[in-house]
Amino acid sequence: MSQRNTDRTIHARNITYLSFFFLALFSFSSCKTSVAPQTEFVLGTVCTINLYDKGTQAVYAEIFDRLREIEAILSANRDDTNIALINSNAGQTATAAKPETLYVLSAALRYSEKTNGRFDPTIGPLVKLWNIGTEYAAVPSQEDISMRLALINYRNVKIDEKAQTVFLTKPGMKIDLGAIAKGYAADQIAEIIEKYHISRAIVDLGGNILAIGEKKPGVPWKIGIRDPETEKGGSILALDIRNEAVVTSGVYERYFIENGKRYHHILDPATGFPVENGLLSVSIISPKSIDADALSTSVFLLGENAGARFIETLPDTDAIFIDQNRKVYVTSGLMGRIEVLDERFKLSGELN
Ligand code: ADP
Ligand code: MG
Repeated sequence: MSQRNTDRTIHARNITYLSFFFLALFSFSSCKTSVAPQTEFVLGTVCTINLYDKGTQAVYAEIFDRLREIEAILSANRDDTNIALINSNAGQTATAAKPETLYVLSAALRYSEKTNGRFDPTIGPLVKLWNIGTEYAAVPSQEDISMRLALINYRNVKIDEKAQTVFLTKPGMKIDLGAIAKGYAADQIAEIIEKYHISRAIVDLGGNILAIGEKKPGVPWKIGIRDPETEKGGSILALDIRNEAVVTSGVYERYFIENGKRYHHILDPATGFPVENGLLSVSIISPKSIDADALSTSVFLLGENAGARFIETLPDTDAIFIDQNRKVYVTSGLMGRIEVLDERFKLSGELN
């Protein structure tokens, strides 16, 4: 798939006059100038971009190039990235960090401070131990969990802004930005889209949604919130949004079942186990996708009450909580913007 896209990119760049010619011809013949929405597997997930009536092959190519570039810097699942290098130098030396690494890691550490360390980008050793989302996923021994827990502490990440370096103070420490990198990536794509003055678009990075503009003048986009009980569930809620990100963290995204028990991918740095607090999913609605992404994981870790209190302190930010009793709670800003589509789920009002 990526080879094909590279070919497309070269094609688009070298023969732009030809594409303009075809576009002009196309619009003349059918009044339809747009290129269909495009989907690729990047950042470990299925990414779909829809630029609606303004999509051109060149803009789609630039967007997917940027997504691949971000993956090549921030992924913790490849051994050739900036994050992998920082991790392999843990306990030894400070590593030159890319601007993307410094920006996303600094943002992640701010969420660690705000959540008292529940959100912790040094969760890497535990993520690797559990292997959730891979065929090797299994419940580890308590001994292995305890050994990894000793390595997890966001305070042991030393960023030197002046020298542009990152140092992990203990050998074996590993950064994992899986809870925030897709959010950052969506914001970067929004910048490209704005640069081309495209006023209507949907960026969907594996369910991390960023809506640009409105569906039509005066009409918001309607975004579905998934049934968190099933892996490929339909929408159980519809939500009106304009110029906002909607990011969901849920127990259904990456998990495995052992002896009848579900183990999902959001790990509590206090216990080393997937967090269990009765929540099935948390969706965050906020202007910037990096915040929505970090907050969906953070608030999931904090639980309904502390999570809702935290959200109410943040401007232009709201949350939807769905719990194991099929109760749906929303923060105050969402009243009137949400519709229940599946009557098995009950809107139980506001949380404070
Ligand atoms: P997804 O990436 O599936 O959309 P999230 O944004 O909620 O879901 O991120 C979950 C990912 O975050 C995990 O797969 C793991 O890489 C990482 N992670 C797990 N636990 C924590 C934690 N306590 N703090 C920060 N990141 C975490
Ligand atoms: Mg997240």
